[in-house]
Amino acid sequence: MIKETRLIDSFIEMVKIPSPSLNERGIGDYLLKALKELDLEVVEDDAGKKVNGNCGNITALFKGNGKRKILFSAHMDTVIPCEKINPIIEDGIIKTDGTSILGGDDKSGIAAMLEAVKVIKENNYDHPDVILAFSIAEEIGLLGASHFNIEKYSPDFGFILDSSGKPGTAVTKAPSSIKGELKIIGKAAHAGIAPETGINALYVASHAISKMKLGRIDSETTSNIGIVKGGEAGNIVMPEVSMKYEARSFSKEKIDDFVAETNEIFEKTAKEFGANFVNTVENGYTGFHIKKGSEILATVEKACNNIGLPYKEQSSGGGSDANVYNEKGFISVNIATGMFKVHTTDEMIEIKDIVDTCKLIIEMIKEFNK
Ligand SMILES: [Zn+2]
Repeated sequence: MIKETRLIDSFIEMVKIPSPSLNERGIGDYLLKALKELDLEVVEDDAGKKVNGNCGNITALFKGNGKRKILFSAHMDTVIPCEKINPIIEDGIIKTDGTSILGGDDKSGIAAMLEAVKVIKENNYDHPDVILAFSIAEEIGLLGASHFNIEKYSPDFGFILDSSGKPGTAVTKAPSSIKGELKIIGKAAHAGIAPETGINALYVASHAISKMKLGRIDSETTSNIGIVKGGEAGNIVMPEVSMKYEARSFSKEKIDDFVAETNEIFEKTAKEFGANFVNTVENGYTGFHIKKGSEILATVEKACNNIGLPYKEQSSGGGSDANVYNEKGFISVNIATGMFKVHTTDEMIEIKDIVDTCKLIIEMIKEFNK
């Protein structure tokens, strides 16, 4: 059975190890040791080198009967502030002293995975091949997962333990995203002596912005300009302005249309004023939608029913490693671990939810073995 004290002790131990993105060495070493103690085949890849981090993705193979291959994955990095994390346990809830995040995002997933393997080993349960993947740099753009050679393991199904919400919640739909910079290049001039010889980049940009769609575009699509930078002095006509923007949509087609439309508006407007427009838009992550009733979801639902967890499907507004794995053709859902108020210093998680996440992992492994 699950040893709750062992599970929570390891969770507390792990959250105390600071692991901001690209600086996952500490937690990586902890995991290498823990996984080797479990007698698993452990590998660290070279993703860290590729993205200028100090640790690679860590993967452990929990060899089973070979009937199937199931991947469980959680990310090692956290957002900041995380230099010194003081976890506090109160009334069955784990939180911090308010000076840092907790890092239950995503160490709750990691702790539950480790305990699940221990329980399966201790009880000698028959099980399929289980791949445990611990990714780096998820929080800064799914970098670890993008460099992870998932093809090498080719799992039948993947479970990313990285969502807010009660255990039993499956994220079956996530958006595609684009991000980049819109830059208008005008012309500098003395604002008092010869303003007519300049082209105010902000003035041009404001015309374009007034024509573009921003905010919630429709029920599936959003867009935002989050940072605007430009100008040199109050008496200089602004020569250049750059705007950081992003858009997300559950429809890849809509996002492509949106990018084309925004580009056209800016190009046309820049031309009207004799300015130039530079667009550095890039594709972010690719969305996914796993259909209700598909084998993966039916099995998760069955596992939830077996242990009395209410099963729920929901969509997410953000990306996770599941986006990357689905894009590569490996059907994956994101499973909630009970993490709450993530990315804030109020982050917390209920002990019961970490235990339930572990129970669900064990039950899913059993169900996928049938
Ligand atoms: Zn996360």
